[in-house]
Amino acid sequence: MVSSLGVAVMVMVPWPSWSGMDGMFQGNAAAMSASDVLVEVAPEPEPDPRFRDVSHRIRKGQALGSILPEYGVHQVDAVVEAAAPWVDLTSIWAGKDLHFTLDRESEDRAVFLRYVLDEDRTLVVDLSGESPSAGIEEVVYAHMAGQRVLTVEGSLWQSAVNAGLRPADIMRIANVFRFDVDFNTELQAGARFSVIGDDLYSGGEYVKMGELQAVRLENKGQVFTAIHFVHADGKDGWYHPDGTAAKKPFLRSPLDFARVTSNFNGGRYHPVLKKKRKHLGTDFGCPSGTPVKATGAGVVTVAKKHGGHGNHLVIKHAGGRITKYSHLSSFKVKKGQKVEQGQVVALSGNTGMSTGPHLHYELHMNGKAVDAMKVELPTTDTMPVAERTAFNAQRDVLVAQLDAMDPDGEAAAPALVDGE
Ligand SMILES: [Zn+2]
Repeated sequence: MVSSLGVAVMVMVPWPSWSGMDGMFQGNAAAMSASDVLVEVAPEPEPDPRFRDVSHRIRKGQALGSILPEYGVHQVDAVVEAAAPWVDLTSIWAGKDLHFTLDRESEDRAVFLRYVLDEDRTLVVDLSGESPSAGIEEVVYAHMAGQRVLTVEGSLWQSAVNAGLRPADIMRIANVFRFDVDFNTELQAGARFSVIGDDLYSGGEYVKMGELQAVRLENKGQVFTAIHFVHADGKDGWYHPDGTAAKKPFLRSPLDFARVTSNFNGGRYHPVLKKKRKHLGTDFGCPSGTPVKATGAGVVTVAKKHGGHGNHLVIKHAGGRITKYSHLSSFKVKKGQKVEQGQVVALSGNTGMSTGPHLHYELHMNGKAVDAMKVELPTTDTMPVAERTAFNAQRDVLVAQLDAMDPDGEAAAPALVDGE
């Protein structure tokens, strides 16, 4: 009987043993639970000629109810119900694949259904019993300490790929420094990232970066170092070597990628009014519809049309600070609403007195407009005194490793920039 396969659906398998249209289903739970794939690679089990794997590409408008019967499965509702804790199979995506294991001894009826949920998880529905049951296969990675140096030449993305990093990894690294450096404008060719973290392996092959432990950016003669620290209460964060938090109360820019077209200025010639006028904010050129993020956590106090500002949004923050966003095409939040730092609050546009699609952004401190691109933003959090010793010990080891990774040893001296 099929159940004699002894396959535990919840078993962890090394990625991507299930994949490949012609790969035989491996009905050997012991061989599948290779937890330390680097040291001991489990021997390939003999393929069982009784079973074969096929993949079904979901077509547009195709529902599970029309696909399953093709593979001899008629309990569609029961399959949906079994999978419900993890995924709603009534809304499967066209273009994705359903992987079936078929039993040659029962007219190619499907005995297993696999559906990839994300990079690390696959839904497995056991169709061999009386009623379907489902579970999750999760990739088990082997962890190895990894060090990478990335020098920016041309695009950041291509440099990252050359260094064995994926776009998602470089985004995480860039995120650590988003309070120190504006990646739109300030990253220079030759900028160097040094990264210490977990390298994740599956089946003996490097797959991706896991947890990051320490990162350093050397850019335009400045050195920024950040250490990842997990607190006693389980919360984590990034800290400069002096114990100040890398996270600051304000993002430098409300847009992910945009160039500054007009700086904060005390006496700019205004192209519409044709006279000198103060420019109390920063203009970013961006296509209408670009997501605008709250640069700090706070409460929306204005979200409406307002003269020359067009659609205008104001957020009140702690410590007497206010941010303003103008010429928006639409709002994503309402007056009175609480917002988080980085939350998309509006889409950029070209409303009000505006010569082209752009975002006008202002930061006010204690009632006075300041240059949001240049003002020193205070750090809010520092390492708690009780955890100082643990942090310092961890920091000393990681900083020494970062120093050793530097090919020309430049990092040691200007590291004083850190935490300024
Ligand atoms: Zn402006």
